[in-house]
Amino acid sequence: MANVIPDAWMPNADMERIHLHWTAGGHSANATDKKSYHILVEGNGNLVRGNHSIERNAPPPRSPRASHTKNANTGAIGVSLCCMRSARERPFNAGPSPMTETQWNKGLQVIAELAERYNILVTPTTILTHAEVEPNLRISQNNKWDIVRLAFDDRFRGPSGVGNEMRARVAALIGGAGPDGDGDDDGKMPDDARLPRFRVTDVAPSQLNFRRSPGGEKIGSLPERTVVERIGVHGEWWQVRTRLGYVGFVHSGFLSPV
Ligand SMILES: [Zn+2]
Repeated sequence: MANVIPDAWMPNADMERIHLHWTAGGHSANATDKKSYHILVEGNGNLVRGNHSIERNAPPPRSPRASHTKNANTGAIGVSLCCMRSARERPFNAGPSPMTETQWNKGLQVIAELAERYNILVTPTTILTHAEVEPNLRISQNNKWDIVRLAFDDRFRGPSGVGNEMRARVAALIGGAGPDGDGDDDGKMPDDARLPRFRVTDVAPSQLNFRRSPGGEKIGSLPERTVVERIGVHGEWWQVRTRLGYVGFVHSGFLSPV
């Protein structure tokens, strides 16, 4: 994956989550947008750095910082797509500056790079849209609907419908697969099916620890016979993705080829 975010935009910091927004403005980043978010994606896919560096949002809470999500800014990187000015949720009307497929694809690539840089797992509580903050983190957000619709693709709707699509695409990017027929790549990158698959074996009656990093914090467990896809190898620790799109590390000694 060729990096699209300049290294200088990603200083060392302990970041926990990535929130994807839209600005509810035009296709270019304005002064307010730059105050509110860390990275903006303009309508043509151009990236703009916000005024506040990402590390300003690292815990503990400090000021000034990018204030992009009510009561949920600490530890959270704010990425925003410049679009959807005067848009209406019901009946859906994307308005005069609808989200473009180019900026959506670029936004997913931005999120994938941030997730790798800050070692953030692809889960519904760590990489999420603003619309998912209330249901997934239980922090009220005053009916924020970014992002429950994609102006260019009607198939994905609602907080989890769009959020799950976002995470599946981000996980695929982290795994090295390219965007799927998005028009700005060759469209012939390997698809998910090419990733080698393994089954959890010889771990019963216990379960296999699913960790944030090689040998690191336990963030879940996988039952015997769970099938995972291998994304990367770090010695005896393998980075894997579950069928629901969760990405983490497991000890390779309990995986056998499917
Ligand atoms: Zn938002």
